[in-house]
Amino acid sequence: MVNRIEPGAVWVGDEKIAAPVILWAAGVAASPLGRKLGVPIDRAGRVLVQPDLSIPGHPKVFVIGDLAALNDENGKMLPGVAPVAIQQGDWVADTIARDLENQPRRNFRYHDKGSLATIGRAAAVAQFGKFELSGYFAWLAWLFIHILFLIGFRNRLVVMIQWAWSYLTYERGARLITGSDELAGWPQSQENGGATGVSPFHPSADARPSASPLDTTAVTVTPPRH
Ligand SMILES: Cc1cc2nc3c(=O)[nH]c(=O)nc-3n(C[C@H](O)[C@H](O)[C@H](O)COP(=O)(O)OP(=O)(O)OC[C@H]3O[C@@H](n4cnc5c(N)ncnc54)[C@H](O)[C@@H]3O)c2cc1C
Repeated sequence: MVNRIEPGAVWVGDEKIAAPVILWAAGVAASPLGRKLGVPIDRAGRVLVQPDLSIPGHPKVFVIGDLAALNDENGKMLPGVAPVAIQQGDWVADTIARDLENQPRRNFRYHDKGSLATIGRAAAVAQFGKFELSGYFAWLAWLFIHILFLIGFRNRLVVMIQWAWSYLTYERGARLITGSDELAGWPQSQENGGATGVSPFHPSADARPSASPLDTTAVTVTPPRH
């Protein structure tokens, strides 16, 4: 297990591995609550739910969101993202209402509305079905859609003010890689006269994910100059 990261190197126990570019990808495990249910779970601890999101043998108990493991109609595992959790919440509410009206249950179907991710200041990538967009307009779409889905006018207003302030003041909470001209550990090739690219990651840095339009965990690596 990695126990130390320093400019130009990663430590695994006592072994030092030279690494000019160090990328950190956080994984998440399912809540231990799933194991306590005593029903089948997958390797990540997610509960293998029925197509109507109930658990085997207990039709009145539902598991949704990140804790639920369910395949889509193509046999692909539904992703652990907020839209899945939100749609499953709505679905279960609807299922309970249908139960009360003695209507038959329906299998959950995820409606993928697309994906959006910020990749820098005023830059994002977007995919809606076959339609793809990148750059400034994708970022505007990202901003607009995220504000739109916040509950309540007050929330929207507060977040808009906070984001505008961050944008104007260049205040950042979690951007780890900045595009500095110095890259510790990068071989100083005589041909390219050194390299430019990413800033070293300091474990002590504030690495919390943030919902600000300026905070991105995207990696921007500038290739060596030729
Ligand atoms: C770093 C990170 C970035 C992400 N970015 C995105 C993104 O950009 N877009 C996106 O769509 N999704 C993103 N996700 C995924 C998204 O956050 C989840 O898919 C979504 O929050 C799942 O919702 P949920 O209700 O299932 O679980 P959660 O939102 O995790 O809610 C579960 C709640 O249950 C509580 N809880 C747990 N155990 C107990 C217990 N025993 N008793 C009582 N309460 C308990 C927890 O405290 C928590 O509040 C991200 C996740 C992470 C970790």
